[in-house]
Amino acid sequence: MHNSHAKAFAPSQDRKDGKINLIGLSRDEIGNLFAERGLQAFRVKQVWQWIYGRGATDFDAMTNLAKAVRAQLADEFVIERPRVKQAQNSVDGTAKWLLQFDDDQEVETVHIPEADRGTLCVSSQVGCTLTCKFCMTGTQKLVRNLSAGEVVGQIMLARDAFGEWPTPTDGSRQLTNIVLMGMGEPLYNYENVAKAMRIVMDPDGLAFSKRRITLSTSGVVPELRRCGTELNVNLAISLHAVNDEIRSEIMPINKKYPLKELLGACRDYPGVSNARRITFEYVMLKGVNDSLADARELVRILRGIPAKINLIPFNPWPNSPYECSAPMTITKFQDVLARAGLSAPVRTTRGEDISAACGQLKSESVRQRKPRPHDHLRAQVAAVG
Ligand code: SF4
Repeated sequence: MHNSHAKAFAPSQDRKDGKINLIGLSRDEIGNLFAERGLQAFRVKQVWQWIYGRGATDFDAMTNLAKAVRAQLADEFVIERPRVKQAQNSVDGTAKWLLQFDDDQEVETVHIPEADRGTLCVSSQVGCTLTCKFCMTGTQKLVRNLSAGEVVGQIMLARDAFGEWPTPTDGSRQLTNIVLMGMGEPLYNYENVAKAMRIVMDPDGLAFSKRRITLSTSGVVPELRRCGTELNVNLAISLHAVNDEIRSEIMPINKKYPLKELLGACRDYPGVSNARRITFEYVMLKGVNDSLADARELVRILRGIPAKINLIPFNPWPNSPYECSAPMTITKFQDVLARAGLSAPVRTTRGEDISAACGQLKSESVRQRKPRPHDHLRAQVAAVG
């Protein structure tokens, strides 16, 4: 398994104009920057509450700070979210944003409204370290990790879009849950993702409960253990197969962290209980992992782990090598799990009309840039004139 992820550093916070974006910096980092500029320590909490509690985007709005302090802050710092290059809304209410960063790299973020919640699907890498065969993002080579600011920025701009500053308390919230299930493997960008989640969970700002945050991983076992002890957010596992032979075929990471090791780490995940189960995602691939024998084996390998299973009808994408299992096959598969007492809802495909469904995320510009057959020939002809 190649280890390119270690070198895909996120960009520095510094900008062309030399100002520093405060979004994504920890309280301590802001405290050090302020101290270097002769600003008192209590300013950190004031500014933090304006940024993450009230959604302030400029210092002038921070009326409980003296004018001179606001001016000094504005000289040296900014409060910036990623740029929205494209916003799309699905007929089913799902929204997708194509975001662009200072270095013109792009990711997608998706909001999925439901009756009792509104979930934001957040990306953690441009492209992905991994190459799961059923996932479109997996066809996009890893370009780089997102910085903590670029992860937090996705949540900030969604709050802006819903006008949820400060956090509504009348039950009208549209952004209630965060899932790290967008582009990229979050545990191959652990430091930045962990920093971002600490900012998001800080009670003086966005104040998301760890029970409303779910990190989904393809199974990076060492970081999974760290995530459990340090962040203890909800866990989702991209499982998708019940034996190493199939799983290594569709998810090469299984060669590095096989099922036995992965499920062992799940058994040890802190705080797991029937009230807080691990979600196992299982994409239904026709003739690959959808037999009744697979279903029975799934029951066997998950025995003893407080688990719920998300059965995901495969969402085809251009040139994808698989087909979705037939509805009756999925129902029979689900019945085997239900008879064993396992909750296994079939995930409703959302946002398909805007390519926002699971496994369909890919930077639009890459999609557009994707060379069509004979493109290089056209280029040569063009060159020759
Ligand atoms: S499923 Fe997740 S880990 Fe696998 S290629 Fe897609 S984004 Fe990457």
